[in-house]
Amino acid sequence: MGITNHAKTFAPTLDSDGKRNLIGLSYDELGEALAALGLEAFRTKQIWSWIYHHGATDFATMSTLAKPVRDKLAAHFVIARPSISQDQQSEDGTRKWLLKMTDGQEVECVHIPEEDRGALCVSSQVGCTLTCRFCHTGTQRLVRNLEASEIVMQIMLARDALKEWPPFPAEDRRLTNIVMMGMGEPLYNYDNVAKALRIVMHGEGIAISKRKITLSTSGVVPMIHRCGEELGVNLAVSLHAVTDELRDQIVPINRKYPIRDLLKSCRDYPGSSNARRITFEYIMLKGVNDSPADARQLVKLLRGLPAKINLIPFNPWPGAPFECPDWSVIETFGDIVNAAGYASPIRTPRGRDIMAACGQLKSASLRFSAAEKAKIESIIKEKEAGQGLN
Ligand code: SAH
Ligand code: SF4
Repeated sequence: MGITNHAKTFAPTLDSDGKRNLIGLSYDELGEALAALGLEAFRTKQIWSWIYHHGATDFATMSTLAKPVRDKLAAHFVIARPSISQDQQSEDGTRKWLLKMTDGQEVECVHIPEEDRGALCVSSQVGCTLTCRFCHTGTQRLVRNLEASEIVMQIMLARDALKEWPPFPAEDRRLTNIVMMGMGEPLYNYDNVAKALRIVMHGEGIAISKRKITLSTSGVVPMIHRCGEELGVNLAVSLHAVTDELRDQIVPINRKYPIRDLLKSCRDYPGSSNARRITFEYIMLKGVNDSPADARQLVKLLRGLPAKINLIPFNPWPGAPFECPDWSVIETFGDIVNAAGYASPIRTPRGRDIMAACGQLKSASLRFSAAEKAKIESIIKEKEAGQGLN
């Protein structure tokens, strides 16, 4: 089975001075880059730790290295961060950055703090080749894959902004978890996502364990098993509908990989168990998928799967063709799912005042006219033709 992904990758390995960014190199690649400069193998561990454990961005601060070594590194390399186009903080503590990459493309990254932990919602692509109807990212045309470096830099930048590098005590951190739920479909940029997550999980560096990382997919079935086997991260699946008829419409990748195939790949997901459940995301759309009958069908579909269900109130954006159901409707839905023995937390809308849902920052200033809506429809058609979904 082929994987269709028309997104290209931009390779910003050199800065404007022709220096190479060390962020995004695997541990072995870092070793090779240092060896090419004539540095000894043991330096790799030291420098990796300075970059990823201490968060150093300047070779001059690497006090365990002799001055000539630091100078040599600074002459050839940089430790880069993306630039910040916007930095917004919600009343509830949610913080959202719009980050600009070296080619001017922008992606979002959102930090959602909780009592004693916090998740960072990380983007995997600029835009998305898919066209889920409730998602603003799905209406954006411009798409490229993010490089591994650009994925890792989102986490580094958030840790900078939260000032959580040592000596800040690790147990007090509010960036403890990573969710690959920002812009883009991570399993359509698997190689870069996998490389980035391996860097993030590396024990001598950022060291966020696979149990604290969740990858969300709209259902790229042929990549799901590989993701579990190679990365072992938690899986979240954007289900959103209980019949193929509806899912074909709102999550169009379903036309390629229908619900039955998707659930089979979930049943076979390596490492899932009752202690480590797969999360099924279900966005609540008024009058579309929010009836008690939908809730009962959902429970039936997931029978026998180690699952938890995350009910997501639809977060409206200007021009969106849906509304969020009344709270009582969401609660009734949740009660049915709960009664069947599934945990089904309703995701509290966070950061609504800064439009912190997927793909929404750039839409904040938009008010669509009929002509603009027609344009979005034509972008969606074009993208679906590219995916072979028409
Ligand atoms: N492409 C992947 C990961 C990014 S989207 C996927 O689809 O799973 C991550 C989540 O953002 C999805 O579950 C989607 O339901 C949610 N999302 C997108 N638009 C939303 C909106 N307008 N309101 C609430 N959640 C939204
Ligand atoms: Fe892409 Fe996910 Fe948005 Fe669908 S919900 S368009 S897969 S980012």
